[in-house]
Amino acid sequence: MLSVRDLTVRFGDTVAVADVDLDVGAGEVVCVLGPSGCGKSTLLRTIAGLERPAAGEVVLDGRDLAGVRPDQRGLGMMFQDGALFPHRDVAGNVAFGLRMRGWDRADVTARVHEVLALVGLRGFGGREVSTLSGGEQQRVALARALAPEPNLLMLDEPLGSLDRGLRDRLIGELRELFDRLGSTVLYVTHDQDEALALADRVVVMRAGRVVQAAPPDELWRRPADAFVARFLGQTNLVAAHIEDDRAVTVLGDVPARGHRDGDVAVLFLPDALRLTRDGHRGVVTARRFAGDHVVVTVELAAGPQLEVACWGGDAPAVGSDVAVTVDPDATWVVDP
Ligand code: ADP
Repeated sequence: MLSVRDLTVRFGDTVAVADVDLDVGAGEVVCVLGPSGCGKSTLLRTIAGLERPAAGEVVLDGRDLAGVRPDQRGLGMMFQDGALFPHRDVAGNVAFGLRMRGWDRADVTARVHEVLALVGLRGFGGREVSTLSGGEQQRVALARALAPEPNLLMLDEPLGSLDRGLRDRLIGELRELFDRLGSTVLYVTHDQDEALALADRVVVMRAGRVVQAAPPDELWRRPADAFVARFLGQTNLVAAHIEDDRAVTVLGDVPARGHRDGDVAVLFLPDALRLTRDGHRGVVTARRFAGDHVVVTVELAAGPQLEVACWGGDAPAVGSDVAVTVDPDATWVVDP
């Protein structure tokens, strides 16, 4: 479907995108995830034909897009700011791209009805854009991007400006919509929860480069390095060194096949750690409510600080002496 090879984009001395390879298969939802300024938007804008690459190629359905005008690329694009036309009503906004493409009036009307129903805005066609809530405006922008039946739908932080609750709801709705339409989607976000919840595959970028591309569960359990682990919100990284295919930590040894001798970090996944009667002694220094569980921060006598999830409503108070047991199999060794 989409194939990006060795793509490099420069702005003067800034290399915004460096040697990026990216594939999106038909019907696949791929999220590009990374901190602000890592080149996500530039990557999307270059695929869309809004920036010119210094090197590399973008191929969509076997067609090299070099020199193809943005509106001739067969892509749908939605940006964070949505940028609806304030002086047009909802239907006028959704119809805009279709008219630009020369659709006739009857087809435009039918398609506008169809996509408004798809995004849950049946009957909203005549509404002024300024009378809509933030979430409704976001859906109009999505309907506008979907209307021309793009081969590839590209979304740049589409939920970025919304508050948390609405965002969480729309994440679920979007995934359902993509499944129903069988859409091929390239989705950019700096929010790890959004990426992990939406994507079939997540592509993590840092400083213009792709550092890892993997399905959400693999990314979470097998991050390529400490940066990826921390960016996903994993906190339990403990210094270690390699000896004979084992990573040696102050919490014991864990398997570490294939690593060269030297310094590494061991990631303890949330399910690797439990509070028990016996184990590594420590003191609870913080306690955080997380809905159906509580996360306690434990400062171990041996040094490291760990976050341990407590289920079942019996989390110890700050200042309590506790013990932590480690499951060496729920760990992953990374470069520090
Ligand atoms: P992200 O979307 O991940 O936040 P961007 O793609 O917007 O990152 O930016 C990547 C880098 O390129 C940043 O250093 C940014 O300052 C720079 N950049 C982006 N657009 C331009 C531009 N039009 N002119 C100059 N520099 C730019």
